[in-house]
Amino acid sequence: MPEWLIYMLPWLSVLVFVTAVGACIGSLVNVLVYRLPLGLDVIVPTSRCPKCDHKLTWRENIPIFGWLLLRGKCRFCKAKISPEYPIVETVVALLFGGIWALWYVIPDQLGRDTVLGSIAPEWALNGAAMTWPATVVLLVLVGCLVAMTIIDARTSTIRLELTWVPAGVALVLHTAHAWWFYHKYGNPAMMPGLEGAWIVPNAPRMKWLTAPGEVWTLATGGLANWKFIGMGIGGTIGLGVSILMLRFKLLTRSFSDFDEWYEQHHKETKQLLNASSDQPAEIQADSDRLASPDPVVPVPAESADELPVAAEETPESGMDDWLQYPHARREMVKELAFLCPPVMLAFLGSWLATLFVSKQYGPWTHDSVSGQMIAPANAPLWLVVLGGVLMGYLIAGGVVWAIRIGGTMAFGKEAMGLGDVHMMAAVGACLGWIDPTLAFFLAAFVGVAYAIVAQVFRGKLSKAMPYGPFLAVATMMVVLGKPLVEMGLGRLFGMDAPMNLP
Ligand SMILES: [Zn+2]
Repeated sequence: MPEWLIYMLPWLSVLVFVTAVGACIGSLVNVLVYRLPLGLDVIVPTSRCPKCDHKLTWRENIPIFGWLLLRGKCRFCKAKISPEYPIVETVVALLFGGIWALWYVIPDQLGRDTVLGSIAPEWALNGAAMTWPATVVLLVLVGCLVAMTIIDARTSTIRLELTWVPAGVALVLHTAHAWWFYHKYGNPAMMPGLEGAWIVPNAPRMKWLTAPGEVWTLATGGLANWKFIGMGIGGTIGLGVSILMLRFKLLTRSFSDFDEWYEQHHKETKQLLNASSDQPAEIQADSDRLASPDPVVPVPAESADELPVAAEETPESGMDDWLQYPHARREMVKELAFLCPPVMLAFLGSWLATLFVSKQYGPWTHDSVSGQMIAPANAPLWLVVLGGVLMGYLIAGGVVWAIRIGGTMAFGKEAMGLGDVHMMAAVGACLGWIDPTLAFFLAAFVGVAYAIVAQVFRGKLSKAMPYGPFLAVATMMVVLGKPLVEMGLGRLFGMDAPMNLP
């Protein structure tokens, strides 16, 4: 074996493995995209030709290569198989392999000061062995974002299951990862003079690297920020209270009478259409009667009936109906009521945390030099990280929800979907509160860029695009463009150096 191969083999084999896993997840994304909107079981029936129902063999089921093997056609009925399948598999495979390479291979091989080498977050420099759970959380999020994007672009709905999976994985993996670290090494302690490099007291030779001001792989409140932790736990319990109140009908769902209104609204428009087409239809029928002795009477009525039915099927009119719903402002009051328990319990939790901590560790003190409050003691790392996950979920979801309520109140039309709230909350649970907040504002620019491109290529804006795909693209831009984002923010706030983010 040549020497360079022996040298490359360890990281190359892992990279190939991660890319292959990505292709398989891409295959799963295809299944989700096809079956979820149809309400089909995701696991039970194996892949079949949608036309002749012929079962695919294991070889034809291999991601990307299966489609190439069949040359895009069913082996039996020769029906074309959409190239979307291998394309989605390739995209997810490249995202998985690319993120792994950028995080763990390129900084080592090319150096941290190269363009590609600088993309990895600081924590990834601790190596895959120490940080793989955080990367797995990111990859799960990426897979779900791809599926959400395709489904949302097609059906204008965000499947909530696809937001709960990454949020749940983040809650378990991030917290367990920090728990493992805490029980093996204890809390890291700030290394004097070097912000972002921590000494691990139980393992004196180990240096734990994070972004300056951070302790872990996602944005937290810091080791001593008990209020942040209390707020996250309180807010999450409040969210549970609100969900229970919805279940027991103590709160009502917003837009719960939409279906009723929709039917009524359509009956009215149908009648209106019938009334307006009555006149010319009768004239038409009269002239028909003149031409042929056996007039077919229902023709005008039928053609008038067909109009609204045909219009219903185009996605544009579906979106329009949603926007025409007249009680959007009133419905926001219901959503504000839903938000009361989480907000109140978040503040209660923050207050209780200070009480509990002052009992346990002594009171908060006031630093007369800096003017800041000093917390009595550090929280254990796993609790700090749990607080980061919960607050990420709450803040990122809260930002989108606040804009939704504000926008709807201002314009009287529903602005942003609740699906978008769920989606960014999930991103917050996986990456902490900073990334999704940035991505949310970046998404508006992505939307404008898409509108311009669509205008140039199609000559007109074909249809109102839902916001979810822009949010997903913006999230990926923040994750993969951190150095650029940090530079941009540094300029924006007039700082001398790029702003440092986790
Ligand atoms: Zn077939």
